[in-house]
Amino acid sequence: MPVLEKNVEITASKSPIKHEFRCPNCGADGERTYYNQLTKTECYSCDYLMISHTKTGQVVEAYAPGIYF
Ligand SMILES: [Zn+2]
Repeated sequence: MPVLEKNVEITASKSPIKHEFRCPNCGADGERTYYNQLTKTECYSCDYLMISHTKTGQVVEAYAPGIYF
């Protein structure tokens, strides 16, 4: 039965896509993860975090030490 092939396909489509990005707060290399509707941007060097809608760009949650809005 070709069950294995189907499982691999499902697993691949559900894994989030990750991209490297340059942190706007401290300039270190961070990580940007794309989920279905949300984009999470985070930096492990300074705890910068931003979660926004992938389509609209509207910010859901943001935290950046050292930056005052
Ligand atoms: Zn940073």
